[in-house]
Amino acid sequence: MFENLSERLSGVFERLTRQGALSEDDVRTALREVRVALLEADVSLPVARDFVNRVQEQATGQAVTKSVTPGQQVVKIVHDALIDVLKGEGDPGKLKIDNPPAPILMVGLQGSGKTTTTAKLAKRLTERDGKRVLMASLDTNRPAAMEQLAILGTQIGIDTLPIVKGEDPVAIARRARTQASLGGYDVYMLDTAGRLHIDEELIRQAAAVRDVANPRETLLVVDGLTGQDAVNVATEFDAKIGVTGVVLTRMDGDGRGGAALSMRAVTGKPIRFVGLGEKMDAIETFEPERIAGRILGMGDIVALVEKAQETIEAEQAEKMMKRMMKGQFNMNDLSMQLEQMLKMGGMQGMLGMMPGMGKMAKQVEDAGFDDRVLRQQIALIRSMTKRERANPQILQASRKKRIAAGAGMEVSDLNRLLKMHRQMGDMMKKMGKMGKGKMLKQAMK
Ligand code: GDP
Repeated sequence: MFENLSERLSGVFERLTRQGALSEDDVRTALREVRVALLEADVSLPVARDFVNRVQEQATGQAVTKSVTPGQQVVKIVHDALIDVLKGEGDPGKLKIDNPPAPILMVGLQGSGKTTTTAKLAKRLTERDGKRVLMASLDTNRPAAMEQLAILGTQIGIDTLPIVKGEDPVAIARRARTQASLGGYDVYMLDTAGRLHIDEELIRQAAAVRDVANPRETLLVVDGLTGQDAVNVATEFDAKIGVTGVVLTRMDGDGRGGAALSMRAVTGKPIRFVGLGEKMDAIETFEPERIAGRILGMGDIVALVEKAQETIEAEQAEKMMKRMMKGQFNMNDLSMQLEQMLKMGGMQGMLGMMPGMGKMAKQVEDAGFDDRVLRQQIALIRSMTKRERANPQILQASRKKRIAAGAGMEVSDLNRLLKMHRQMGDMMKKMGKMGKGKMLKQAMK
């Protein structure tokens, strides 16, 4: 579904990863090509620009690690940035369907694939989640559309609400709810009328149905082939009706896929599913990780860089522990260590990694030593001068006042930090004597 973009990007990165050292210019040139590739894939301009800026920033700020080339590192940064731009909150495939019967409202323009998607989702809910689903067509303007849903229902063995001539959409929605309750259905899906363009009547009708049905999910179906138009349609539907997610159809087609990349960033709404063909099984949940992998097609490199990063973190942690156990640390070290701790899941996380330290982790937690405190302590240390950090024993009342004020805290907070620094030193020294080699090895496994 992203063939063209994928080809363009792999060209850019193959050139980049073949090189050993990279200059900032190399990265900039590569990213300019990435930007063009995104625009050609019909990604919206602000999204493409933000994307490239973010990657540029991270690529220049990142420490280069020995075991991977800078080009490989850039690939990983791009990969993560792609996931970021695609990802919404929560699990895209999980529809809110507790409290049966749960109404799902399907909205979208005519020809977007709304009816097909309604049937595909009903089938999926039935087969994967064991739900009983009732489908109802509300498209009173087009009797053929109502027939179409009934035919699909018969084909896949899903019940549809019997068609009653002359009923308006709101009445159909009410009847669907009654039928769903009486019939013991878990979910009922309301396939609203679509039009060729968004107009007042379309919105009025959809809003009226929404108000009586009170849907748990309102899914907007848009044609992925229409690129930025799909994004514009989504923005407008969301503003007027409110949607909980987007289904992008025809992602089996031509492969520009820009709508997929812009959708979340522009509308704030996650893509939940993608349609990949006319068959009733041709639907998938939208998984940002997998999609990013597909777009880049460089899974090996991403895995390699991830592994290298893990190794570096473990090495840094080991060095830090060694210093701590020798009781060798001043405020600079402590600050660095606090930051490391934040990264490694806080003090509890670190202590929890060490055999026999579980109880201490609990005590630390009870003492209110959480990540917020870690951040405050880092701020206090930053507020000290270089000399003070190297020799915390010189801290007298006036210095303490200045430091606390600089970090927006009280002197009592600073005193607590100093006390902790001393206690940690003592504790770590004791632990060091207990046989650090063995313990370290275990903890670092
Ligand atoms: P509606 O007017 O929005 O209800 O659209 P339909 O559900 O009737 O779909 C219009 C056409 O698009 C039908 O021929 C569908 O088979 C086709 N269609 C729907 N979803 C997809 C998809 O994901 N991929 C492809 N290739 N065709 C699709």
